[in-house]
Amino acid sequence: MSILETAPRTLNAGAADDPAITELNAAFEAQRRAFAADRNPGLDERRRRIETLIGMMLANRERISAALIQDFGAHPVGASDLIEVLGVIGRAQYVLEHLEGWMAPQPRHVDAVTLGTSSAYVQSQPKGVVGNIVPWNFPFDLSVGPMIEMLAAGNRVIVKPSEFTPACAELLREMVSEAYDPSLVYVANGGLELARAFSALPWDHLLYTGSPNVGRQVMAAAAANLTPVTLELGGKCPALMAPGSVTAKNVESVIGTKVVKNGQMCVSVDYCLVPRADLDAFVEHAKAYMQRAAPDYSNGPEVTGIISLRHLDRLAELLQEARDSQCRIVPLQQDERIDREGRRMPMSLVLDPAPDLRLMQEEIFGPILPVVAYDQLTDAISMINAGERPLGLYVFAEDPSVAQSVLDQTTSGGAAVNTCAMQSALPSMGFGGVGTSGMGRHHGEAGFREFSNPRGVFVRGEGDMIDAFYAPYAKAEALVKAALSAS
Ligand code: NAD
Repeated sequence: MSILETAPRTLNAGAADDPAITELNAAFEAQRRAFAADRNPGLDERRRRIETLIGMMLANRERISAALIQDFGAHPVGASDLIEVLGVIGRAQYVLEHLEGWMAPQPRHVDAVTLGTSSAYVQSQPKGVVGNIVPWNFPFDLSVGPMIEMLAAGNRVIVKPSEFTPACAELLREMVSEAYDPSLVYVANGGLELARAFSALPWDHLLYTGSPNVGRQVMAAAAANLTPVTLELGGKCPALMAPGSVTAKNVESVIGTKVVKNGQMCVSVDYCLVPRADLDAFVEHAKAYMQRAAPDYSNGPEVTGIISLRHLDRLAELLQEARDSQCRIVPLQQDERIDREGRRMPMSLVLDPAPDLRLMQEEIFGPILPVVAYDQLTDAISMINAGERPLGLYVFAEDPSVAQSVLDQTTSGGAAVNTCAMQSALPSMGFGGVGTSGMGRHHGEAGFREFSNPRGVFVRGEGDMIDAFYAPYAKAEALVKAALSAS
């Protein structure tokens, strides 16, 4: 292939038809120019950008809560503040504390015998202009959260929120345009055409969070530009309760996690594996917890609305199919109605469903929990391994060696022992998937490294044998002979 035939890194064609795409292209070009003029912002400037982000989140705390309620129909204020505001601020503060150390050159070993006084180090270099495609379920945590590490790494950022959360998307655009120059951070809002055009831009890095199916399309679009991608995808996260672990506290942890965003969370428990003899105990603990925590759950203050009617209808179909197959279904409240107008439904357990039911095949992403009975722990492990590699895996076991043995025999993006989902809440630990649950990591240092170019730098000193690599090769031959006779 001649140099003229290589794929050009061009902007979207057809932009003239869609003002949102024209604007996106202009913002992208402006960021590229700004990056070319300032390739390596220093520590103080990066810190300032992150402090601006903290101020932006604090100033808009109440508006964020209101926008979430508008898009979801219902969204508990406590959960909005904790996850979408304070969680993001805590993540930013952690980065501020550690950024200086992460930015420092990382020295590498150099063999003094052959390379004399030469030295080597890895320089974490900004990548450039980074895109972030965001899903609807955590409109702020998944847009502003990764932005922290993208900015910490010295990049410029364009965010594309989900079209399913228009109030949050509009608020984010407003907040960001008040806080930042668009040549540093910009928010592009629009529909599917814009989303496609976004993933086709020649980013220096592209983060996509969403379903595996769209993840495939995003990765294919990025491949045309050889753009590196981080894919944060979904799937079915299992909880495995080892014999003896079906206690009130542990069942509360499973169901309590399910209540967060009403199950619409990538690290939620998708299904729970329980020793056959403990199935009834699980049901009783689950009922008792919900009676205590949210007795009229779907009508009460703890519920998050289902994002769309289409999604609610899909969940209702999953339940109906289970009911038609004679599964026992246990709603964890008295009112069993599915409220289409309010986009609410009860939290329900589906006991021991057959593996070919749709709810055992696709990610549930809502208030339905299949509770699958197993006879031997090895059967439960085989069930997990028969599926795709999950984003999160949760093991409940009193004996740490049992938990470790389950971890050793399975593969997942992250895992938690004796609780659920907490592996995703630490700024000190990289977060991401494996296989169909994704690739790459963000959060804290892992995110900083992901959005940096780890440039390896070698600095020649004195007294080395580097000229052995150059012709004539008599010196190389002598060196090889000496090395072979010494070994
Ligand atoms: P979604 O429908 O909001 O889509 C996600 C984003 O992709 C949106 O911004 C959308 O506009 C964009 N998009 C859609 N089609 C596109 C295309 N062809 N090209 C480019 N962009 C496109 O959200 P969703 O996919 O329904 O999100 C739910 C999924 O996300 C679940 O599977 C969940 O597990 C997963 N998820 C994963 C994580 C994680 O961190 N691993 C976090 C949250 C959600």
